[in-house]
Amino acid sequence: KRGFYIGRFQPYHNGHQSVLEAISDEVDEIIIGVGSAQMSHFVNNPFTAGERIMMITRSLDKLKCPFYVIPIEDVQRNALWAAHVKSMSPPFDVVFSSNPLVVELFREEGTLVVSPEMYERGTHSGTEIRRRMLMDENWQELVPSVVVDIIEEIGGVRRLSQISKKD
Ligand code: ATP
Ligand code: MG
Repeated sequence: KRGFYIGRFQPYHNGHQSVLEAISDEVDEIIIGVGSAQMSHFVNNPFTAGERIMMITRSLDKLKCPFYVIPIEDVQRNALWAAHVKSMSPPFDVVFSSNPLVVELFREEGTLVVSPEMYERGTHSGTEIRRRMLMDENWQELVPSVVVDIIEEIGGVRRLSQISKKD
């Protein structure tokens, strides 16, 4: 049985990690889709697909379950999105998502969807982490330590604060 999990992972955080660890007990293989893959260097989408793939792959280094990380670009037509995802992914039997739009689009397309419990959603969200990066608050506690290293290596906080400025 193969499961599919999608997010933008801007950045990848401990909430994603906790869900993927739980999913790994339920399936034989996991496909992780990196959404809005064409986006980077925006305040809400600071990191490139390649940078996000590196965050995910290194964080899941010790996962017992085999996984694939694939980039998925946006399409400007929600009604075709689930088919678009399937057209680029290894085949899967079940989608794990709690995102209401993702749930709806896959259900309408006829795919089984399971919604995992949220892990400390108040603090563990990409939005909160990007806010903390800009405010110089403690964001490091919300992501795996390898993600801290990668963001340091690529100058992620400097990038985010630079692109958030007005001219
Ligand atoms: P953003 O605030 O930028 O939207 P996010 O934290 O929602 O970031 P996404 O990349 O949008 O992260 O989410 C990918 C998937 O992970 C979504 O299905 C989302 O519901 C889920 N997810 C996000 N945060 C958590 C969490 N704390 N616990 C469990 N699942 C989460
Ligand atoms: Mg989200």
